Amino acid sequence: MALQIFNTLSRSVEEFIPLDPNHKEVRMYCCGPTVYDFGHIGNFRTFVFTDLVRRYLQFRGYNVTHVMNVTDVEDKIIKRVHEAGTTLRQYVSKYEDAFLEDLQTLRCLRPHHLPRATEHIPEMIQIIDALMKRGIAYKAADGSVYFSIEKYQGCGCRYGQLVNLNFDEMRVGERVASDEYTKDSLADFALWKARVPEDGDVFWPSPWGEGRPGWHIECSAMSMKLLGPSFDLHLGGEDLAFPHHEDEIAQSEGAALQQPGQKFVKYWMHGAHLLVEGKKMSKSLGNFFTLRDLLGKGYGGREIRYLLSSSHYRATFNFTLEGLDGARIALARLDECLGKLQELAGTTSAPADQKFLDAFTAALDDDLNVAAAWGVVFEWVSEMNRLFAVNQLSPTQAAAALAAWQQIDSVFGLGRKGEVEAPPEILALLEQRQAARKAKDFKRSDAVRDELKAKGWLIEDTPKGPRLKRL
Ligand code: AMP
Ligand code: ZN
Repeated sequence: MALQIFNTLSRSVEEFIPLDPNHKEVRMYCCGPTVYDFGHIGNFRTFVFTDLVRRYLQFRGYNVTHVMNVTDVEDKIIKRVHEAGTTLRQYVSKYEDAFLEDLQTLRCLRPHHLPRATEHIPEMIQIIDALMKRGIAYKAADGSVYFSIEKYQGCGCRYGQLVNLNFDEMRVGERVASDEYTKDSLADFALWKARVPEDGDVFWPSPWGEGRPGWHIECSAMSMKLLGPSFDLHLGGEDLAFPHHEDEIAQSEGAALQQPGQKFVKYWMHGAHLLVEGKKMSKSLGNFFTLRDLLGKGYGGREIRYLLSSSHYRATFNFTLEGLDGARIALARLDECLGKLQELAGTTSAPADQKFLDAFTAALDDDLNVAAAWGVVFEWVSEMNRLFAVNQLSPTQAAAALAAWQQIDSVFGLGRKGEVEAPPEILALLEQRQAARKAKDFKRSDAVRDELKAKGWLIEDTPKGPRLKRL
């Protein structure tokens, strides 16, 4: 079976076929964090989901380019910067750093590109300019530039590709300036917001006067710059489908940068929200958790990742602290089995158990059914335990099972208990050391080993290659 995914654009499950004529390259964009505060576990459910998608595409043999933007200028940020009386960069850098650290705690692979909105203002201006030239954007009396839904539809384009919209109530020319609005306030939306006193020194020059971009244009500009005007996959939480993603499509296809007949994005995937104890997470209900709150309660990134990735991405997920305790127990069961297999396998190596891999692949090919995939894994754990109990497992079988698990874990990304994922600078040093060894430059390889030691990391050479351990 081929990989099937639910495409929000067609509202149906479709076979995933990348745009690349060789069906090898996949270009994916995920809306990143708005860095005005620490990320909460709801946000991280979405980011773990996108990380799973990337990892599974890689497991399926695709060569993935993964872009995640950092929204470092929008309404909420400006408000906070104003209240804090600081500069934009100073304000956001703390949260941007924390976000990257949190991603690593959750063992998410670092996206290949992490563009910041503030570093792509010229690209945004270019798209707005193209929309102005096509008559789809207009400057209003308040000095801001808006996207005209009427003119866009008049060009033969459709507004309302991701969600069904009721245009009956919509009054032509009615505008919405705020970045976030609901379907009820369907109206022309802001592409460029004219400078107002509350913006402080957050503004840029533009052909339409000083101001700042609307949130939606940011993602159109960054995604198309790094992935081209048409790419394979765009992801985000379900709340982003409207208006954010709908507006992204309208701006990007309205600017007509795509080849004739090509869409801005072929597949859209949206992750359902996370609820806490059955309710919407909110500070006033006291059920609001950042990742850091959970770490403070003694849970680890590995447990949190497991829990966040254990249910289907399209199902609302109910987060509870008991759920995290359950995750701890489930992982302990898995770790115990892996430990016993490792002991039995010793240095034996064997080709991966294909039956196990096939069952896992069949589960995830079915619209990323992680619950079914975990079902496969825990059935396997039971079977291994049964064979252990009757002494019917050989070192070769244990090695085959472990080899399959290693591939499966390249998707789940849990690693082994106590194993800490090394930061990119440490991984880069390990690569340098391997290169030096390959070139038989042992002086250099020893020097890199010492440097790693000074940074608190030890290299263990195993039959399967080098492993990093925290000192
Ligand atoms: P933000 O930083 O607010 O722009 O959100 C970052 C990502 O988190 C977006 O993809 C949102 O859709 C997603 N998100 C926000 N709240 C939740 C939630 N409660 N559950 C799952 N995802 C969420
Ligand atoms: Zn976005």
